[in-house]
Amino acid sequence: MNASSPSRLLVVGLGRSGQAVVRAALADRFASKFDALTHLTVVDGADTADLREQAADLQQYAAQVRPELEVRTYLGKSTLPEEAGSFDLAVISPGLAPHDPLTVSAQQRSDELISELEFAWRLAPATQQWIAITGSNGKTTTTMLCDHLLREAGRCSASVGNIGEPVTDLLREGPVPEILVVEASSFQLEYTTSFAPQAAALLNVSPDHLNWHGSLENYAAAKCKIFAHQHSGDVALTWDADPFAALARTAIKETGATSQAISLQASPPPSAYREGGQLWLYFDQDAAPQAICSAADLQIPGEHNICNALFAAALVAHFGVSPEQIAAGLKTFRAPTHRLELVATIAGVRYFDDSKATNPDSVRAALTAFGPGEAHLLLGGRGKGTSYEDLARIALAKVRGVYTFGEEGSLLAECFRTIQAQLGTRVPIRSCEAMVDALECAAHRALPSEAVLLSPACTSFDEFSSYEERGEVFAALVHEITSEDKDPASGAADEPGGRV
Ligand code: ADP
Repeated sequence: MNASSPSRLLVVGLGRSGQAVVRAALADRFASKFDALTHLTVVDGADTADLREQAADLQQYAAQVRPELEVRTYLGKSTLPEEAGSFDLAVISPGLAPHDPLTVSAQQRSDELISELEFAWRLAPATQQWIAITGSNGKTTTTMLCDHLLREAGRCSASVGNIGEPVTDLLREGPVPEILVVEASSFQLEYTTSFAPQAAALLNVSPDHLNWHGSLENYAAAKCKIFAHQHSGDVALTWDADPFAALARTAIKETGATSQAISLQASPPPSAYREGGQLWLYFDQDAAPQAICSAADLQIPGEHNICNALFAAALVAHFGVSPEQIAAGLKTFRAPTHRLELVATIAGVRYFDDSKATNPDSVRAALTAFGPGEAHLLLGGRGKGTSYEDLARIALAKVRGVYTFGEEGSLLAECFRTIQAQLGTRVPIRSCEAMVDALECAAHRALPSEAVLLSPACTSFDEFSSYEERGEVFAALVHEITSEDKDPASGAADEPGGRV
């Protein structure tokens, strides 16, 4: 720990990040950081066979490596038991919201409550280089793209955090690469108190996870914390079209970090932008901008991915990656799975898996990759209480058909029909039962050169265990359904705006 070693450490939530914290506290590698540790306590709201096994393993391992340490585990507790006592440091799981009684009780009994990201920051050597990326959408893509650009330029980097491996685990396992590219969620950022990446980006803010944060303002404030502790010499990137960019820049001003804007237009002069179909970047703010490559060279479709590419270019430029190296890396980066991923082209129809699009804004972004009347849009799953009206306005002006499914299917169809009546558009809107029905319906209607797009705007949990499973099932079904004969009558029977 950069600060003094805690003597009483509480780990709230024994998920991936909680387990990483426990492993680090017991690791030889960090022995000097935890030399004052006398009590290690773990609490979790759930009590499953899996958690019991993990808790027993933890007790056993701790008894071997730190026999003097008092280890206590509490499972199935909605609040921290009285007998657990108090703590000088608590590390909280990103799954626990600030208003959760377990969080509240942990906060009341601990001098400090931090996230696993902050914990990792305190463990890392002061010389470690960090890039951190947050936003409502595009975090994984931009994180992977930064990592790709750095590696292609011959640098040693790793992508960590929300994207997969907890940062703490990577630090413990070593060797630690020169540059860590961290995908930072708002949950992790909320509980940071000194995390100060040399390069940080807030891609965008749109309504999401409002149950956790309580309000859009709280959510945006948590995201802006990515900049809160930066220093002069660091770089802070925002998107000029984001409604919260001004708030973020106010926060950045107070830190002395260099504020840079990413834009899809050239004026007012941003730091990285698109103009005349080219991507441009100021490598030196006092010199002229340099063209990096053509937007058409990118293998990742859509306007949003141009933004992601500009962000990644500006982030790695801060670490000395040259324009030529950036151009070469941008040209070879492919869409991560389930993010506007082309999974098949069958009979001239392209099938896209954008299962990761779990909010309306990511669907809006996906639609920028398609021409008017080109896409058959599959929407549905489990809703998050967000409004679909703005999405309906944009989608109905653009798509060839809408196919809704799952728990949220009828609500989505109703909303789209209401907006259709206001706009006077005549887009067929189909209410289907499950995703497979929506896909069958769209596949039967799609003509060569059109596209079928699963970009559901909802989570997958009504029908699937994860967005990954939903995307995999979609890709498998595409091959199954399209290998059957198309029913020529089904397309002809469609009435614009009708029901299935
Ligand atoms: P995150 O990790 O923030 O969820 P991903 O890169 O996994 O972001 O992308 C999630 C969804 O958002 C995908 O459907 C993707 O097509 C879409 N998306 C990616 N980048 C952006 C962006 N900059 N703005 C809006 N949507 C985006």
